[in-house]
Amino acid sequence: MRAAIISIGDELMLGQTIDTNAAWLSAELAARGIVTIEHRTIGDDRAALGETVRRLASKVDLLILTGGLGPTADDLTREALADALTPGQALVRDAAAVAQLERWFSTHGSGMPKSNLKQADHPQGTQLLANPHGTALGIAGRLGACQVFALPGPPAEMMPMLLEQVLPALERPASSDVVLTEAVHAYGLGESAGAERLGSLMDRGREPLVGTTVSESILTARIVARGPQASARRELDRTIAVVKQKWHPYVFGCANGSLASAVGELLRAGGRTLTTAESCTGGLLGKMIVDVAGSSDYYLGGWVTYTNELKQSCLAVPEAVLTEHGAVSEPTARAMAEGALQASGADYSLAITGIAGPDGETPDKRLGTVFIGLGQVIEGNVRVAVRQFAFPGDRWAVRDRSAKSALQMLRFTLLGVLDDTHLLWAVHP
Ligand code: AMP
Ligand code: MG
Repeated sequence: MRAAIISIGDELMLGQTIDTNAAWLSAELAARGIVTIEHRTIGDDRAALGETVRRLASKVDLLILTGGLGPTADDLTREALADALTPGQALVRDAAAVAQLERWFSTHGSGMPKSNLKQADHPQGTQLLANPHGTALGIAGRLGACQVFALPGPPAEMMPMLLEQVLPALERPASSDVVLTEAVHAYGLGESAGAERLGSLMDRGREPLVGTTVSESILTARIVARGPQASARRELDRTIAVVKQKWHPYVFGCANGSLASAVGELLRAGGRTLTTAESCTGGLLGKMIVDVAGSSDYYLGGWVTYTNELKQSCLAVPEAVLTEHGAVSEPTARAMAEGALQASGADYSLAITGIAGPDGETPDKRLGTVFIGLGQVIEGNVRVAVRQFAFPGDRWAVRDRSAKSALQMLRFTLLGVLDDTHLLWAVHP
């Protein structure tokens, strides 16, 4: 079964409202095996809307409109629907709906404004859908073989109407196919390198279909499997396993999993503890760790040492290291990681010092230069590995990438693969 969604309203075209309805509707339909093939967003424009309804109805089995069912002159969905479904015929007014609207207004303490009367209008041959949460009634109709539903714009009214009235009314074809999706997340691998590793897995038309996206430096493979439930599940799981293997060791989780929660699970499983020493990230790394519920099992806490003085007094970074090499340097990151281990008694430490910008650049230390130190206690001895990075991006991106790279370095260490694994933006010494 194929669907299309039309989101309606000038506020969407002006960028004032984000079209969350189309996303939510598509996910609900996909979960029931209905594939959305097109999203359209249209302003409050009767002609454009009528034309789009006609065109899409000839392509899909199910057309859902959202928005434009209000009482004002810019709410034109009823009229446009009539233009498409019953050209040349006037809207009809439903007496029961008028009574219902009057009841709604009297329950809510006021008389009904005249303009609301038009919310009882609908094209001939269509049915009105009740709205217990507002005055915009929905409309159900058909154009050729396509079932057409017009729903209100406000999500709190649109969502229950889909679940309670539209889905039960679908005349579904015999197929009981489902659409199953999964997201596999990786960090430290560029998008094109990731795509190269996937190779023919990304061929268009492949089943399951695999695509990649990058958001906040996290590389994600989106896998979509269609078909009967059992075989779709089996093929989805098979493809997830292949993606994980091809992106090893960069893959840290699926769905809502975070890098910090993956690290946390490894620390908890090994009974190990962690501390942090942050300069340019200003506590962002600690925040990511503590965002995970239960992080007190392994995170002891840390320091935000922004000035040289605090790096000396809290973490015992030697003054000579700071004057000779500077605060943004390999020896400072090393001393911070060592000092944090010593002061906390943790098994692992992560230390970050760098130039997030926009100021602070020097000829030999460009913006985005960051040193990350990873300390660990091995049989009573402290060992520190420091990596230098050249992160692209603005102040926020550099800080975000610093914290995530630190977590991935620790994850690689816990997996035993740090020494020979390249991380995106790492500078080779
Ligand atoms: P309408 O019934 O079209 O006038 O929509 C009323 C309100 O619903 C808008 O001002 C938005 O706040 C919200 N809304 C309408 N369409 C959408 C949409 N596609 N996604 C999210 N919110 C929406
Ligand atoms: Mg509107």
